[in-house]
Amino acid sequence: MRVLVTGGAGYVGSHAAKLLAETGHDVLIVDNLSEGHRPAVSKLPFVSASLLEPERLIGAMQDHNTEAVMHFAAFAYVGVSVKDPAVYYHNNIVGSLTLLAAMRAVGVDRIVFSSSCATYGNPQRIPLTEDHPQNPISPYGYTKLVIERALADYSHAYGIGYAALRYFNASGAAADGTLGEDHDPETHLIPLILQVALGQREYVEVFGTDYPTPDGTCIRDYIHVDDLATAHVAALEKLQPGMQLKLNLGTGHGASVQEVIDLCREVTGRPINVHTVGRREGDPPQLVADASAAKFANAASEARLALGEIQMKSGERAAGRALLKSLEKDSSNAGFLVVAHKAAAALRFAPSRQ
Ligand code: UDP
Repeated sequence: MRVLVTGGAGYVGSHAAKLLAETGHDVLIVDNLSEGHRPAVSKLPFVSASLLEPERLIGAMQDHNTEAVMHFAAFAYVGVSVKDPAVYYHNNIVGSLTLLAAMRAVGVDRIVFSSSCATYGNPQRIPLTEDHPQNPISPYGYTKLVIERALADYSHAYGIGYAALRYFNASGAAADGTLGEDHDPETHLIPLILQVALGQREYVEVFGTDYPTPDGTCIRDYIHVDDLATAHVAALEKLQPGMQLKLNLGTGHGASVQEVIDLCREVTGRPINVHTVGRREGDPPQLVADASAAKFANAASEARLALGEIQMKSGERAAGRALLKSLEKDSSNAGFLVVAHKAAAALRFAPSRQ
C-alpha cells in the first residue's frame, strides 16, 4: 500500500516506517524534524513539511499517490502540556485537522492515528478496556481525545476508515540497533535510568512515592516499540473505508517506577542512584491495558514475545551487562540502543504485582 507517514522521523514513527518498508509498503515520510531525526529514515523518501502547511501536504499526497496515512506527528510530553497547553492544542489539534482536510481534498480515506492511554484519565477500573470512559487529566490527553472524536465524526459523515491506537508506554529500541529512543531533552523513565547506568547522569528522579499502589510509585504498562510497529501495520492492512477501530496497545502487565528501576539494575548490573521528588502533574497512579482487543494485531508480535522469553531465560540479561560494560567509553553507538531493547524486553517478563 502507498502510505504517507507523518512524524515518521520520530521514535514510534521511525520504527513503524521501517517495518512498513520491510513488509513491502511504499512509504513517504512527512516530518518537520522539530522532534524527529532525519538519519532515522535516511533510506526512505522524505518531505520536510509541517502539518500546518496544507498545500504541501496535498502536494505530497498527490505526488506519492497516497492510499493511506499513518499519523504520528504530535507533541507528546504530558508534563510540558500542563505547563504550556497552547502549544499542544495548536500543534496536535490544528495540525491533525489540517491533515484530515488535506486527505479529504485528495480523496485519501484511511488513517491510522497515534492516540494514547492518556485519553482515559484516572482509571475507574484496571485493566483499562477500550470502552472505559475517556476523561483526560492532561492537555496532552485532551488533544488526542479531540482528534479521536473528529475521526469518529468524519468516519460517520465522510466514510473514512480509521484506527485510533491508544498507546500505553512505548519503550525499547530496534533489536538490530539501528533505531531507538532519542529525545532532547529526554524525559522518559527508561532512557533516563539507562543514562544513569551509563554514567551520563548522576541520578534519576522518582516522581512521587505516595500513590495508592503497592510500593507507592506509579504503575505503567510498558509496550515494546517494535510491537507497536507490528500493530500499526496489522491495523493498516485490516482497515477499510468507513471502518472504526479503537484499540489499546499495551501488554496487559503493569510495572511500577520502582520495579522498572530494580529491573534496570538487574539488566545492567549497575547501581542506579535515585532521588525521590514530588508527583508530576497530569500523572494518573496506574495505567494498565486490557490488551485483548488488539490480539488480531499481535499474532506476529506474540510469537516474537515467546522467542524473546526464551532468549531472556538463556542469558540476555548477562549479555546486557557485558555490553553495557563495553560501552563505558562510547555510549553513543548502536550498542546502547540494544541495551535499551534488552531492558524493555525484560519488562515484558517482569513479575507483576497486579
Ligand atoms: N517518571 C519518573 N521519573 C522520571 C520520568 C518519569 O518517576 O524522570 C515516571 C512518571 O511519573 C510515570 C512513569 O515514570 O509514572 C513513566 O513516565 P514517562 O515520562 O516515561 O512516560 P509517560 O507515562 O509520561 O508517557
